[in-house]
Amino acid sequence: MRAINHALTGAIIGLASGNVWVAAPAAVASHFALDVIPHHNFKGESMHRPIFFKVLVLDFIFCMVFAGLLFYWRPNDWPLAIVCAFLAVAPDFMWFPKYKRAKNGHHPVEHTGIIRFHHDIQWFQRPIGGVVEIAWFFAASFMLYAVIHYSWF
Ligand SMILES: [Zn+2]
Repeated sequence: MRAINHALTGAIIGLASGNVWVAAPAAVASHFALDVIPHHNFKGESMHRPIFFKVLVLDFIFCMVFAGLLFYWRPNDWPLAIVCAFLAVAPDFMWFPKYKRAKNGHHPVEHTGIIRFHHDIQWFQRPIGGVVEIAWFFAASFMLYAVIHYSWF
């Protein structure tokens, strides 16, 4: 999934839980749960293409704006929400060496361990997956609004 959807989901977990010991591992776990869902991406070999970098930058800007909104709104447990948003995005930082290799024109290395697991669970990554991303974005935004404005817990 795109980083903004991971961040929204992590923030919801942080706000709904309010407990760092529950929310932090759940936020990290949510990353892998969301990656199983069909989602947007380009093929791995296209990491060196300018569009890939532009989408990464746009995604980063969305995440920064979202963190800024949480800081501005300051709902209960907003610092935990920001930490959980970051933790929910963080597993994708393991792709940085792969991105750097592709950008420098080096051949990709074979995935092992957690990187292989992270790669293999993402069975559907295509541009059309953007439809799922948009649906998730709006559903998560609604859920975030509900968690902030209505206290069920
Ligand atoms: Zn991922």
